[in-house]
Amino acid sequence: MKDIFFLRHMESKNKRVAVLGGGLSGLGSWIALKEAGAFDVICFEKTDIYGGTWSYREHSDDGVPSIMPTTTTINSKELIALSNFPPPKECNNYMRYDEFFQYLKAHAERNDGLNYVRYNFEVVEVKRCDDYEITGKWAVTVRNTISGEVSTGVYDALIVSTGHINRPKMPSYPGQDLFKGKIIYSHSLKGVEPYRNKTILVVGMGCSGLDAAVETNNVAKKVYLSTRSGRHVINRIGLNGYPYDYILIRPYLYQLLDIFPASFVSWCFETGYLDNQFHHNLYSVVPDHHVFSKDPAISSQIGSKLITGAVIQKPDIETFAEDGVVFKGETEVTKADVVIMATGYTWKFPYLEEGIIIEDKGKFDLYKCVFPIHMKHSTIAFVGFFLPFGPGIPPGELQCRWVAQVFAGKCNLPSKKQMLKDAEKRYKANLSRYGPSEKVSIKVNYIQYCDELAAEFGAKPDILKFFFTDIRLFFKIMFGPSLAYQYRLQGPHPWDGAREAIMTSKDRMLYPLTKKCSIERQENVFKRIARKTLSCIIF
Ligand SMILES: Cc1cc2nc3c(=O)[nH]c(=O)nc-3n(C[C@H](O)[C@H](O)[C@H](O)COP(=O)(O)OP(=O)(O)OC[C@H]3O[C@@H](n4cnc5c(N)ncnc54)[C@H](O)[C@@H]3O)c2cc1C
Repeated sequence: MKDIFFLRHMESKNKRVAVLGGGLSGLGSWIALKEAGAFDVICFEKTDIYGGTWSYREHSDDGVPSIMPTTTTINSKELIALSNFPPPKECNNYMRYDEFFQYLKAHAERNDGLNYVRYNFEVVEVKRCDDYEITGKWAVTVRNTISGEVSTGVYDALIVSTGHINRPKMPSYPGQDLFKGKIIYSHSLKGVEPYRNKTILVVGMGCSGLDAAVETNNVAKKVYLSTRSGRHVINRIGLNGYPYDYILIRPYLYQLLDIFPASFVSWCFETGYLDNQFHHNLYSVVPDHHVFSKDPAISSQIGSKLITGAVIQKPDIETFAEDGVVFKGETEVTKADVVIMATGYTWKFPYLEEGIIIEDKGKFDLYKCVFPIHMKHSTIAFVGFFLPFGPGIPPGELQCRWVAQVFAGKCNLPSKKQMLKDAEKRYKANLSRYGPSEKVSIKVNYIQYCDELAAEFGAKPDILKFFFTDIRLFFKIMFGPSLAYQYRLQGPHPWDGAREAIMTSKDRMLYPLTKKCSIERQENVFKRIARKTLSCIIF
């Protein structure tokens, strides 16, 4: 394999591209480069398997994503579908990690994407070549994690896709060293058996904190859930029993954020939707922010755990004691055997030469979170390094497709001045919406960001044209859930099945619920109107 690969490189006149990391972003990059053509691509993955976050491992390592055996996607299948590969109708709407992994595997195999991943190759150094100023080339040094052998290759371009949800951010509280119990990070939480009959304290109310609280609660004696600023919680099940994102992630709803202040849209969403599902005022720590200024956590079970007292919500920790913690506003020690920190992740590219990614107080010098603006050549791109308000997979795929077009010379980046202006605009808007944080400038609104990326390489659908030529499609795109298939209707590498995939997405969403043709189970219109009227009048 190795020899054939290098032989091909020696003979080839194609541009050589190295893709760092074999997760979803790495495989997506490989596929997009293959689609754009005229590249020799090599993908380095430091573990022995592709799929990154979605390949389950029994152990956890710093720098490698880690999930629990029960991890399930937080977005439903149609919202995280790849743009030319709808998930089979039989797939569950929220896929457990192994179901999602099979979906990714099928997509990669279809595109021959797995044969070119060099497993057990850790990227240890990335530097500009001596002639970088002229050629834009990169030197990438990798270490074979089995043999220890180190080798360096020269590449015309690089895609950095090593993920950023893999290095736990461990907080430090007064007296933490005194604690005689166990402190772990949610990153290393695998099974719940070690927590049987123990008193657990979970710190942090993001998705992983809620998962840790819900899962350990099934066997633990007691579970406390500590949160500094509270968190809005969205149930996976939305209106009419549909996946929440199938209902909420729609262009006309996201466009409200372009028209009104985020705090106003948040208030409407909290009052009109969220509070009907999970009223935050009922719980001891009420969020101190609006839902659109801190990512909400997605959980279908935490509400019932709190209402039954199975999980007890607590404020932030004031101090640790030998056998537990004292929460803010309390004087007594609350005993705990195990503390599970679920306090987020920090970012790092340890192999990268200094001066490539520049950050100042959460402000990254990246055009659309992808291309470093100050670099002389657009031969390095960061894929998957962003925080979407909504699903991350479709914008990640669009990043891959855009980068492939830029590397192929089929699409140019704007002037440095324009790129700086764009980055500054996003940073300022985010700062006023979210407040300062380590990654504030890489936060994006899902739909707006997808459109921005697609517009860069001509794949943004021309909605106005559809208004005149295909009104049914227009309505589906404008008022239906925002699906990745729309970015295959036009532009480079369109897909003939895109329109059909958009028109039939509801059938695929309903199928795993009804196990029948969706139409058979449709409620009649009278019953629908009656239900809506009654719920307005009575409840
Ligand atoms: C529990 C959980 C649930 C999620 N649910 C959703 C969801 O429902 N919807 C959604 O859109 N997103 C979701 N995400 C976000 C998720 O991160 C993305 O879906 C996606 O998997 C990110 O892929 P990636 O390739 O960018 O990064 P990763 O999955 O982190 O992959 C990076 C790869 O790079 C490798 N690597 C790291 N360093 C090196 C190195 N030095 N050399 C070589 N290889 C290296 C790693 O081993 C890994 O395989 C979820 C994340 C988590 C943790």
